[in-house]
Amino acid sequence: MTQKIVHDFPPLMKEINAKFNTLNRSVIYSWGNIIYNPTRMYIPPSLMVHEAVHGRRQQPNPGVWWVLYLANKSFRFLEEAAAHRAEYQYLCGNGSRLQRRSARVCVSKRLCGGLYGHMVKRRQANNILDMPEHEFDRIMSAAVEEKGDE
Ligand SMILES: [Zn+2]
Repeated sequence: MTQKIVHDFPPLMKEINAKFNTLNRSVIYSWGNIIYNPTRMYIPPSLMVHEAVHGRRQQPNPGVWWVLYLANKSFRFLEEAAAHRAEYQYLCGNGSRLQRRSARVCVSKRLCGGLYGHMVKRRQANNILDMPEHEFDRIMSAAVEEKGDE
């Protein structure tokens, strides 16, 4: 999915800021086929890959996705896990062994970091990055079934 970059705040900025306090920080926000980049920060290719995962999964209704994302920590974790995995795989595919190792540190630190409200411990973040695709897919499908039961 190709996302268009818009230099503005996303819809729901008030709600997003109330939860994550990102109003005055260089943070970008995926909204379907748009990336909102209010501070015009540089977006490296690996982050474009990350946002594209969000953009695709936010279809057909990014607003519904965002409401769930703000309210539900396990939904947020799985969505970020999917995006961070794609970002990590992209970085690994384009780097040496040393670069892959530093990519793992950097991506897993972000996944368990303060931006998302410290969702998991570092070890869990590493585990989810290292998990084979079929295993991660199974976790994602199980979560979707659970949501369907509500
Ligand atoms: Zn993300």
